[in-house]
Amino acid sequence: MTNNQKMNIRIGNGYDIHRLVSDRPLILGGVNIPHSLGLLGHSDADVLTHAIMDAMLGALSLGDIGHYFPPTDPQWAGADSLVLLSKVYQLVQERGWQIGNIDSVVVAERPKLKPHIEKMREKIAGVLQIQPNQVGVKATTNEKLGPVGREEGISAYAVVLLTQE
Ligand code: MG
Repeated sequence: MTNNQKMNIRIGNGYDIHRLVSDRPLILGGVNIPHSLGLLGHSDADVLTHAIMDAMLGALSLGDIGHYFPPTDPQWAGADSLVLLSKVYQLVQERGWQIGNIDSVVVAERPKLKPHIEKMREKIAGVLQIQPNQVGVKATTNEKLGPVGREEGISAYAVVLLTQE
């Protein structure tokens, strides 16, 4: 980048929570994680991917994922959230933006997510055609506090930096 070229940057944040139930798979960051409980939702309820999508949309003031993939639309029933992520990324790219980096936190009391984090980063980076080192995924418990602490749900937070040269 030379002196007369200015790099534009935009930041967005996203949050999501889904309820844990006994008859659903647990999918986080596109990874199917063995657990006795899974997340309830119209799509695959991948709460991490949803938070990342909302952060990407928020960075460009494009609304939220409920606008693009309404839970009333049968088209998105059981949808693979990584496919939805690629659609959101298309909106970003069409406007001439790229991803600088993503950082995220999954808040879950159980199961231990550490063994799955590398795979989540690889999956998300693969869809977005970026490097895994541009995708931060962290995991924490809620110290048994509140609905997440009682294992009634899993939540996720994400921030995304977009760049445009
Ligand atoms: Mg959601």
